[in-house]
Amino acid sequence: MILLDGKKAREHFAGLLQEKILKLSIPSSSTAPCLAIIQIGNRPDSDAFIKAKKSFAQKIGAKEIHIQLPEIVTQSEVVDVIKKSNLDTNIHGIIVQLPLPAHLDSNGIIETVDPKKDVDGLTSKTLFTPATARGISQLFGFYQIDIKNKKITVVGRSKLVGTPIAEMCRKRGAEVTVCHKETPNIPSQTKGVDMVIVAIGQPGFIDEKYISKGQIVIDVGITRVGDKLVGDVAFDKVSSLVTMITPVPGGVGPMTVLALFENLIDAWYNQKYE
Ligand code: NAP
Repeated sequence: MILLDGKKAREHFAGLLQEKILKLSIPSSSTAPCLAIIQIGNRPDSDAFIKAKKSFAQKIGAKEIHIQLPEIVTQSEVVDVIKKSNLDTNIHGIIVQLPLPAHLDSNGIIETVDPKKDVDGLTSKTLFTPATARGISQLFGFYQIDIKNKKITVVGRSKLVGTPIAEMCRKRGAEVTVCHKETPNIPSQTKGVDMVIVAIGQPGFIDEKYISKGQIVIDVGITRVGDKLVGDVAFDKVSSLVTMITPVPGGVGPMTVLALFENLIDAWYNQKYE
């Protein structure tokens, strides 16, 4: 069984991004790509994800601005902050750390981000591949996994995660089936295909009843359980069956951060030469 190590893959691509940013920052008049991270409240899991993004920015020589707003902020106050960042020419990408407090309309807030700066790829008019899908695509590249004409089942169809992953796989030539809560008999859709990609947010849900021998399993899920981050796949129950599998943490997560900064560099180019 091969462990698809997102940290190792990211390390490889990080070097390339670092070189790219060094080149971008010459001549000295041009500023390095800058990401604005907007955080509302102080959920410990969001704190941890933001810390990872800031430390990766530092590693590759990108800039970041962390804008922290209190839990009780109003919708219009958040919208104003995003609009200011949209207009700020020193900011090339904007992300709003999800999930947001329940009193806010997440969709309305996300849609305020200028599509040219939407480096998470979440607005309806975004110019970018959503970071999770781009990150998984890069992981395939690093491990030379060719998905053309392969049968892939994606479990989870959210607008921001499952659906863009399924679209990315279709674009790369795979035959894709998508399952969700209403899908009857999910194991009949996951067993026997070449690859299963899971993004449902249900820790350990996919066990040996869903997986057959020789498959590749990509676990997108990340849920905090106690002090641990847990995936949607019961790793210990399926690892003896599969040929390749992503761990959680350390699989898709690091690749999503990488893809976010790849999108940021693309955004920098677009804004510089538009
Ligand atoms: P979400 O918006 O809650 O969507 C969950 C999706 O899974 C929905 O389509 C839902 O079906 C489906 N689902 C839930 N329970 C199911 C079940 N028992 N059987 C079949 N389908 C089921 O969640 P999300 O934003 O897509 O995130 C999913 C997971 O990915 C979370 O753990 C999140 O933390 C993680 N995530 C990871 C990364 C990363 O970088 N690794 C990035 C983003 C998100 P319906 O459509 O029928 O409701």
